Amino acid sequence: MSLEFDVIVVGAGGSGLAAAYSAAEQGGRVLVLEKRPQPGGTTGIAVGSFTAAGTNLQRRIGIEDDSVAHEEDAGKFAPTAIETHNNSRLRSYFLSEAAETLDWLQRLGISFVGPNPEPPNRVPRMHNVVPGAKAYIAHLQLALQRHGAKLVCDAAVERLLRGESGRVAGVAARVAGQTEEVTAKQGVILAAGDYANNSHLIAKHKGDEYHEIEGINPFSMGDGHSLAEDAGAQMINMDVTYGPELRFVSSSKKPFQQWLPSTGIASRLMGAVARRLPRWMMRKLIKRLLVTWQHPENALFDDGAILVNHAGQRFVNEKVWPDREIGIAA
Ligand SMILES: Cc1cc2nc3c(=O)[nH]c(=O)nc-3n(C[C@H](O)[C@H](O)[C@H](O)COP(=O)(O)OP(=O)(O)OC[C@H]3O[C@@H](n4cnc5c(N)ncnc54)[C@H](O)[C@@H]3O)c2cc1C
Repeated sequence: MSLEFDVIVVGAGGSGLAAAYSAAEQGGRVLVLEKRPQPGGTTGIAVGSFTAAGTNLQRRIGIEDDSVAHEEDAGKFAPTAIETHNNSRLRSYFLSEAAETLDWLQRLGISFVGPNPEPPNRVPRMHNVVPGAKAYIAHLQLALQRHGAKLVCDAAVERLLRGESGRVAGVAARVAGQTEEVTAKQGVILAAGDYANNSHLIAKHKGDEYHEIEGINPFSMGDGHSLAEDAGAQMINMDVTYGPELRFVSSSKKPFQQWLPSTGIASRLMGAVARRLPRWMMRKLIKRLLVTWQHPENALFDDGAILVNHAGQRFVNEKVWPDREIGIAA
């Protein structure tokens, strides 16, 4: 393996592959290091909805929208205590790039259906990828190959290397049982995912009572956060996490959409067919996704649903958050 690149990306989930492709598209020599035997990360098991304003799919059905309106609505999702931690400048930039990013993904051959409603968004903004989120991974991986970027799996980055100026200048990674040092002339991009399954980090930043909640992706260990912290980064907002929330137990079988082809003519055909599916059929498919790892709506408990343990006994007050999520007795 060459030991010098322009850009090194740590992690081959959706954000890492997208960053790598963007750098490769602009002529950079790019290396992606992935600690698992295959790319995908949490992105590969997600639902894959893409929320954006001012998109070509919205315009096609006559919805006028823009990122300023989106920004206002985005502020309504989280409770005020969390919203006060928001970085407005970053949110504004992120949302203003969303429609163009959707175009960019479509140009790669990724198909979307929708937009579907997603309140409190004032208009439908949820674009759903066909057949599922693994399409992002498959298409981006193909695009990277076409641009000659290198993806190495089973390659866990263990340390960030710093140059004389103190700037991060490369990584040390464990590849085939050996530690290799690779340098990046332009930069290292950390895209190693979240820390939802790192009980130590959760206990440290959020509190001991939350540490037993398992992440959906057992490999979400927050390596990127630890790498950055070890290199001297300041950590902020580590206690601001999504949830905790109840989850439907997902089937041990692979969900149906994971079996469908993600690239090629078959996937484009599915995109075209999916856009023409009757609403009742679409609703049925979406419902199935919603009971895979997603959380039940409060309305279910307002209507009288109760939670019972293995012995069939009710064990929490279902209407008190976060007691029901972390199992505090009623
Ligand atoms: C069930 C579920 C459904 C979701 N649905 C949606 C949705 O519909 N829409 C939406 O917008 N979001 C959704 N999300 C959230 C979304 O999936 C994540 O925010 C997104 O996938 C994160 O992408 P990422 O590239 O940052 O991380 P990941 O996709 O997790 O990628 C990180 C990669 O880095 C690798 N890595 C970690 N440490 C190292 C290391 N030391 N060295 C090398 N590689 C390393 C990991 O193995 C992994 O492959 C969902 C999440 C879940 C769990």
